[in-house]
Amino acid sequence: MREFMSIEPPPDAFDRAGPAAARRLGPVLRRVAIAVLALFVALGVHWSLLLRGHAEQQANAEARVHQRSAQLAHALALQVGTLVTDIDYMVRTLADTRAAGSEREFLRTQRLVEAGLPLGALVQVAVADARGLVVHSNLRDDVGDPVSIGDRAHFVFHADAGEDRLFISEPVLGRVSGRWSVQFTRRIERDGVFDGVVVLSIAPEYLSSSFRDIFPDPGDTVLLAREDGVYLARSHRFDEIVGDRAGLTHAFMRAPNAREGLSRAASVVDGTDRFYAFHRVDGYPLVVSVGLDASAELDTVRDAIAASRVENAVATGVVLLAGVLLAWMFLLRERNSAALADSRERLELALAGGELGTWDLDVPSGNTRFDERWAAMLGYRLAELEESVATWENLVHPDDWPAVDAALARHLSGRAAHYESEHRMRHRDGRWIWVLDRGRVVERAADGSAIRMTGTHADITSRKLAEAAIAESRERLEKLVAEVPGVVYQFLMRPDGSTCFPYASPGIRAVYGVDAAQAAASAEKVFEIIHPDDFERVTASIRESAERLAPWRCEYRVRDADGSVRWLLGHSNPQRLASGATLWHGYIYDVTEQHLAAAELEVGRQRLMTLLERFPGGVLMEDARDVVVIANDTLCELFGLSLVGADLIGLGHAELVVRLGPERSGWLHEPESAARGEQRRTIEIAAGAGHALEVDWVPILREGERLGRVWLVRDISERKQREVALEKLAATDTLTGLPNRRSFLSRLSEAARDARHRAGAAGVVMMLDIDHFKRVNDTWGHAVGDEVLQHFAEVVRQSLRRGDAAGRLGGEEFAVLLPGTGAEDGRVLAERLRERIETQPAVTSVGEIAITVSIGVAALGKRAEQALELADGALYRAKSSGRNRVCVADATAVAQ
Ligand code: GH3
Ligand code: MG
Ligand code: MG
Repeated sequence: MREFMSIEPPPDAFDRAGPAAARRLGPVLRRVAIAVLALFVALGVHWSLLLRGHAEQQANAEARVHQRSAQLAHALALQVGTLVTDIDYMVRTLADTRAAGSEREFLRTQRLVEAGLPLGALVQVAVADARGLVVHSNLRDDVGDPVSIGDRAHFVFHADAGEDRLFISEPVLGRVSGRWSVQFTRRIERDGVFDGVVVLSIAPEYLSSSFRDIFPDPGDTVLLAREDGVYLARSHRFDEIVGDRAGLTHAFMRAPNAREGLSRAASVVDGTDRFYAFHRVDGYPLVVSVGLDASAELDTVRDAIAASRVENAVATGVVLLAGVLLAWMFLLRERNSAALADSRERLELALAGGELGTWDLDVPSGNTRFDERWAAMLGYRLAELEESVATWENLVHPDDWPAVDAALARHLSGRAAHYESEHRMRHRDGRWIWVLDRGRVVERAADGSAIRMTGTHADITSRKLAEAAIAESRERLEKLVAEVPGVVYQFLMRPDGSTCFPYASPGIRAVYGVDAAQAAASAEKVFEIIHPDDFERVTASIRESAERLAPWRCEYRVRDADGSVRWLLGHSNPQRLASGATLWHGYIYDVTEQHLAAAELEVGRQRLMTLLERFPGGVLMEDARDVVVIANDTLCELFGLSLVGADLIGLGHAELVVRLGPERSGWLHEPESAARGEQRRTIEIAAGAGHALEVDWVPILREGERLGRVWLVRDISERKQREVALEKLAATDTLTGLPNRRSFLSRLSEAARDARHRAGAAGVVMMLDIDHFKRVNDTWGHAVGDEVLQHFAEVVRQSLRRGDAAGRLGGEEFAVLLPGTGAEDGRVLAERLRERIETQPAVTSVGEIAITVSIGVAALGKRAEQALELADGALYRAKSSGRNRVCVADATAVAQ
C-alpha cells in the first residue's frame, strides 16, 4: 500500500494488458484474421485469373506461331512442289529425249536444263545404261572408265519397278561430281524395255540456301525431307546432318496420312525449342517442315508475362504488406484501446475496492476535478462541489493545514517524490473525518513547474480511531506493567541458541539488574546473575519448555553484585515462530519474602508437629479442602485403630470416615452449632471398653474464612469415674446410704415426667415417719438413735422391688417411690412395710429396740410436689389417728 497510486494508466499498460484485455481482443483478432484471409483469397483469385490469362496469352502466342509456321510450311511446300515439278519435267524430258535416241536433242535438253536451273543448283546430268554404267555426264565428255551406279537406290528402284515415276534420292556424294547431291531420276524406256536411268543431281546446298534466304535467322529452320525422314535440305547446318539417318523422328512420320501437322520439340540438330509445322508436297514423297524458334517467337509474350508477373507480384507484395500493416495497426489500436479499457477498469475497481476518491488538479488555474467517491466521503454529491482547489482547502482542518501545505509544497517544488498527508477534513454533517491524501504531479512545464497533479483520498477515520485506541491501551498497559512488582517480558530463543528479551517491562531492572534495552540486545547479562547452583536447572527447564512447548515455571535464585541472594519465580508460555525460534510471554517476580515466610512457616510447622507429637492425646487436622494434614498415633490408639497417624494423612474427609468405620466416626461430624458460628466445642463420647473421650473441635479461621479444622481427643475415663463417684456421694445420705432428699426429689420429678408420656398408673409415693423417735434419742442417746435409723433404712431398702426408689428426706422422715404401681397396690406394699418395721426391732448396741412407723400414701400425678404434699397429708392423718398405720390420700385429690 506504500506504492503511490496515480489515476493515470501506467505507461506499460499495453504490455501488461491483462486477461480482460485479452478477452476483449479475441473477437477483434478473429475479425482481423478473416480480413487477412479475405485478402489472401482475393489475391489468390487475382493470381489464378492472371496466370490463366498468361497461359491463354502464351497459348494464343503459341497458336499464332504454329499458325504462322503452318502457313509458311504450306507456302514452302507449294514452292517446293513447283520446283520439283519443274525438275521432274526436266528429268522426264531428258529421259524421253534419251529414249528417243537423238544425241543432239538430248544435249539441247541438257543445255535447257542447265540454263533453267539457278546457278549452283545443278550438280550433274548423267545417264546410266541398263547395266548401271554411267554412259553420259554433263560434267565430262569422255566417260573413260565407266562408273557404275547399278547399286544406287534409284537405279535399283527404276530397274525393278515397272512404273515410271520420279525417284528422289537421299543426298549422296557424287561418284563423278564428288559433291553432295540429291538425285532426281527417271527410267529410260526404249520400246517398253528398261534402258537405263536419267539422273539430275541437284545440290542440296542450293535448296538449303534458298531456304536460308527466307529464314536467315538460325533460330528458325526450314527443312525438306523425304517422307521416310531423310533430310534433303535444311536452312542451316545442313552439312552437319547430311547423310545422317540416325534418330530421324519427324512429326510427319508419326502421322503418315496427315497432309500437314504441327508439333513442338527441341531440335535434334541444335537442341533449339521450336514450333514445327510440316506440309507434304503434293505429288511427291516430300515434306517441308518449318521450325520457328519458340523462344524467339514467344520471348515478347514471355517477357510481357514475366513483366506482368513481376508487376503483379510486386503489387501483391505491396497489397499484402499494406494489409498486414493495416491489420497490425488495427490490432495495435484495438489492443491499445482494450488494454486502456482494461487498465481503466482495473483502476476503477482498485479505486472502488480501496474506497479511494480521486482528484485531478490543474495547478496553474486551481481547477480541480473530483469524483463521486471523493465527494461522498465528505457527505456531498459531486454536483454540489465547485471544481476548485479551494473546495478542498476550505474543508481541511485549520490545525492540520500548515502540515498539509508544507507537504504539498515539498512535492510541487520537486523535493519530495510524491505528496502524502494525513489530515482531518470537515464532513458535511459537521464531524471531522481523517483522510489519507496522496498525489503526484503528472505533468510539468519545461521549467519544472507543476501543470497537472492527480491523487487519491482515502477515509482513514476508523484506522485513526483504532490507532488512538491502540495507543491509549498501549499507554495504559505500559503504565500498568510499570506498576507490576516484577517483570512482564517476552523471551526469545533463536535456533542458534542465542537469547534476548524482545520486550521487558521496566521492572526488569529490579528483577535482573539490567534495563530493557540491554535485555533486548542479549539475555547474557541476565543469565550471568543466576545463582550457580540453580543455573543448570534453569537452563534445563527452558530447554524442556521449548522442546515440549509446555508452560515454563521455575523458582530459582539470583545473586546480586553485593552477593545477596534473591529468589525469583517465573511463569511463561512458549510459542514456536516460523523462523524456528521460540518466544515466551511471561512474568517473573521476586519471591524472596515468600521464601523467608515459607521458611519461617516451615519452622513453625515443625514446632507444631513436635508439639502435636508430644500432645497427650489424639490430634487430627484437616486443611481447607478437608484433607487430613496431621494425625498422630495417639489418635489411633484412643480409637482402638490398628493404624498409625501417618496412615490417615492425605485422606479426604469422606475417606477418613470410611477408614474409621461408622461406629468410630460419629465424633468427626461437625457439631450442628458450628453453623451458628461456634468456634469451639467439646463433646464427650464413649469409646467402648469403659473409655470416655473428650473431643475438642476447633475450626481454624482467618477473617471468617475457614482454613481447616482440628480435633483434639483426650481420654477422660478417670475423670469421668471420679465425677460419677462424687455425684453419687452428693446424692446419698451418709448415715443410711439411701439417696438424700435432693436426689430422691429429682428421681421423683423424673418419674412424674415419664408418667406424662405413659399410659396407666404413674406410680405411688409413700411418706414414712418413725413414731416417737424423740424418745429413742432421749432414752439411749443420739448414737443409738442413729443405729435405729440405719436399721430402718435397711428394712426399707430390702422391701424395695426393682425400679422402686427410696430416699431419706431428712431426720427420721423417709420416702419411697413405687413407679407404675396403682394406689391400692401401693397401700398394700406400704402396709407390708409398716408391718416389717413393727415386727423387726432394731438390734443396737444397747439391745433390741422396737419401733413403728406411720405411712402416708399418695398416687403420683403429673407433678411430683403435689404427690408429696398429698402423701404428707396422708401421713399426718396416720399420725393423728394413732400412729403405726397407713393412710392413703384421697384419690380424687390425686386426680386433680
Ligand atoms: P411423733 O413423730 O410420733 O409425733 O413423735 P416424735 O418424737 O418422733 O416427734 P418429732 O418428729 O418431733 O421428733 C423427732 C426427733 O428425732 C427429734 C430429734 O431429736 C430426733 N432426731 C432427728 N434427727 C436425728 C438423728 O439424726 N439422730 C438421732 N439420734 N435423732 C434424731
Ligand atoms: Mg418426725
Ligand atoms: Mg417421728
